[in-house]
Amino acid sequence: MTNDIRADETVEIAGAGPAGLAAALAVRQSGRAALVYERRSGVGQRFHGDFQGLENWTSETDVLEELEAAGIRATFDHAPFHEVTVFDPRGGVRTYRSPRPLFYLVRRGPGSGTLDAGLESQAQAAGVEVRFNTGAKRLPQGGLVTAGPHRADAIAVGYLFDTDMPDGAFAVADDQLAPKGYAYLLVHDGLGTLASCMFADFHREREYLDRVETFFRINAGLRMTAPRRFGGSGNFALPRTARKGDILYAGEAAGFQDPLFGFGLRSALLSGAAAGRALATGRLGEYETFWNQRLRPLQETAVTNRWFYDRLGNRGYRAAINRLPADKDPRAYLAHAYAPRWWKRLWYRTIAQHSQRPLLHLEPGCDCVWCRCQRLAEH
Ligand SMILES: Cc1cc2nc3c(=O)[nH]c(=O)nc-3n(C[C@H](O)[C@H](O)[C@H](O)COP(=O)(O)OP(=O)(O)OC[C@H]3O[C@@H](n4cnc5c(N)ncnc54)[C@H](O)[C@@H]3O)c2cc1C
Repeated sequence: MTNDIRADETVEIAGAGPAGLAAALAVRQSGRAALVYERRSGVGQRFHGDFQGLENWTSETDVLEELEAAGIRATFDHAPFHEVTVFDPRGGVRTYRSPRPLFYLVRRGPGSGTLDAGLESQAQAAGVEVRFNTGAKRLPQGGLVTAGPHRADAIAVGYLFDTDMPDGAFAVADDQLAPKGYAYLLVHDGLGTLASCMFADFHREREYLDRVETFFRINAGLRMTAPRRFGGSGNFALPRTARKGDILYAGEAAGFQDPLFGFGLRSALLSGAAAGRALATGRLGEYETFWNQRLRPLQETAVTNRWFYDRLGNRGYRAAINRLPADKDPRAYLAHAYAPRWWKRLWYRTIAQHSQRPLLHLEPGCDCVWCRCQRLAEH
């Protein structure tokens, strides 16, 4: 096992999601060759053309600027959203507006204009080789694992549809619609996505989704044409390391996913780019420094937030929503909620010690892509 990967070697990456493609770009920008293995036949096939939000509240810097600085250009369709309408479980409704974009709406999946297709064409233009239909099981020369989630800690089920509704973003926190999570409706340019994002009671997904549809029909004037069902899962780990010898982990494969609400895209892109740079230069330790400084504090805070959110219930959601007056900037509110605090860190440590959730456990002497699957680490 060495601390350096030879500068003349191709950097191998398992997984062509946002993290893997961001990494491959960074590798090319550092002058090295990048080979990405993707087990499916194209990029974005985990998704279905659904809308996702690239959050813009966890740092003062605009997310697109931060991505650009990391070598990732926004060559995918993206629409800034400044406004969100939030419902509480008792039917209370407020519309919040932020002067700066609260998030950028992007589409996920194969097909032109999606985030995945945009990243793929950037990677191709930079000379990255992507080998489709090729699952990577081991990386004996070292490299990067960006293979996405490995189990479902949360699921989202919903519909994509055509609509004549005006653009808008709507969210509701109600355990009758999305247990321990939230339901959302996003409409842009005649397309819509609605989903129940559930953190518990997965086996009743159909029932919850039916209720979400009814809820938005009544409360947000939902009009769906040609609905297509979709679903997906998210995996939250409590990472202690994102390195296994010469193999680095990034994106959701490293557990870099927001355990509070599932906004994992930004971490996936940033961690991928940082890991790619570290591998290309052979300075793997810089990646550990990067994620410990940039991502760990956010992750620990989000784990703590999740712990409290799990215990709120409908009454608590209502109280939390009511704490935010309609004239307050929602971006500032979310920034405050996601901001690392010493007491959240302390709370996190206690949670981590008692958590039943698997830690990201990486066997140092092993070069398989997944070595944590059978093993749960003791803390
Ligand atoms: C329904 C849904 C809605 C979401 N909404 C949002 C949102 O609004 N905002 C947000 O920020 N985040 C959202 N997320 C989370 C976000 O999609 C993920 O955090 C992000 O996709 C993680 O990127 P990644 O590159 O780490 O993994 P992935 O996107 O999962 O990419 C991993 C890739 O690796 C491939 N792969 C897997 N195993 C192997 C292997 N062994 N060899 C080769 N290839 C392999 C997979 O096929 C896949 O293409 C949502 C997730 C879901 C499911």
